[in-house]
Amino acid sequence: MAQSVKGMRDLFGAELRWFQHIEETARRVFGRHGYGEIRTPILEELDVFKRSVGESSDIVNKEMYQFTDKGGREVVMRPENTAGVVRAAIQHKLLASSDPVLFYYIGQQFRYERMQTGRYRQFWQIGAESFGVASPESEAESLLMLHSFLKELGLKQMVFSINSVGTPESRPAFYTAFRAFFAARQEQFCSDCHRRIESNPLRVLDCKNETCQAALEGHPVITDYLDEASAKHHARLKALLTDLDIPYEENPRLVRGLDYYTRTAFELLSSDLGAQSALLGGGRYDLLVKHLGGPDVPAFGWAIGLDRLAMVLQQIHGEAPQVAPALLIPLGERAATEAFKLARGLWDAGIALQLETRGGALKKAMATANRTGIQTVLILGDGELDGGTITVKHMATGEQESWSMGEVFTRLK
Ligand code: AMP
Repeated sequence: MAQSVKGMRDLFGAELRWFQHIEETARRVFGRHGYGEIRTPILEELDVFKRSVGESSDIVNKEMYQFTDKGGREVVMRPENTAGVVRAAIQHKLLASSDPVLFYYIGQQFRYERMQTGRYRQFWQIGAESFGVASPESEAESLLMLHSFLKELGLKQMVFSINSVGTPESRPAFYTAFRAFFAARQEQFCSDCHRRIESNPLRVLDCKNETCQAALEGHPVITDYLDEASAKHHARLKALLTDLDIPYEENPRLVRGLDYYTRTAFELLSSDLGAQSALLGGGRYDLLVKHLGGPDVPAFGWAIGLDRLAMVLQQIHGEAPQVAPALLIPLGERAATEAFKLARGLWDAGIALQLETRGGALKKAMATANRTGIQTVLILGDGELDGGTITVKHMATGEQESWSMGEVFTRLK
């Protein structure tokens, strides 16, 4: 029997209902904030990710689904969506004016990763990117949107971790202090960190190795080394978040390791996720658009893992909210014909209803209703047809009553 490819899963039933509920909520909330959807292809040229996610990253080095297509192109199944959105925005000259451009996306991403709880090789991300505004206000707006989205979904504990990584100009001062700190206790750090301290010192701060994390105790804090404008920006964002009642804490080890990330970096951890605790991450990437060949346009964005969000919400709330449809069971051919007319009227009126079309035994239909959690069963037989009524059975209580046809519409609504 064929199985799905390792790390790739089928979505259906209760889990998919969470996905749908999350996606609907995202569209509603983001639409309300003036964000428009963008859909980019799953395949992009290799270069798009090499230049954006970075050649030194694990994603690009070890985790990409990369192949040569039949035309000899080096292509990649996207491991994330920001690079594709930026590529598209440049290609279609969407950033030509000075107007803010606001996009959100919902899509599957691919990374050849080691399997763990909440970690898949095909997973889903929802993200938002705003282009053209460099202000802390634009970040607060995006974070408020994210906060409303998660609040509407019923996520309970939400404390954003934030940090500022300054600018390429202000970072050397921090590097000098940090390299001196590192040198004084270098034997405590792993070999990867010894490489990172040369090529990409910020990455030492978020090394997954516990010994390295312990060795970092008392490290110089990057926010103490910010240039004046970045420090003001950071303070203003924090003031806005406080004012908006968006809980946050500062995390000086939260970094983005690449040069085009500037100033704000943030993430949201969830204690419900165990070791794989990152639910979302984002930040400012003012230098990326230009780096990918576009105009000099500032940008800010984030991505949240849909698989993990669904998992957390399922843990908190159990079933996703849904309208459980009523089930209409006609008995006999004459009733079946009439049932179609009734069902069509209900559907056209926007009422959720499942129509039993198997014919035959009532018992079988009732058993299905029981198994699938249907709350209300409508039974239409010859007696009901003659009397212009319908028999209604409430599954939870076993109670039975008779409704007029008019009542069916008002009561089911
Ligand atoms: P990143 O693009 O690595 O910053 O990831 C952003 C979010 O995507 C993470 O916080 C996770 O929620 C989610 N994510 C990343 N990788 C995976 C994966 N392999 N499986 C499931 N979710 C993932």
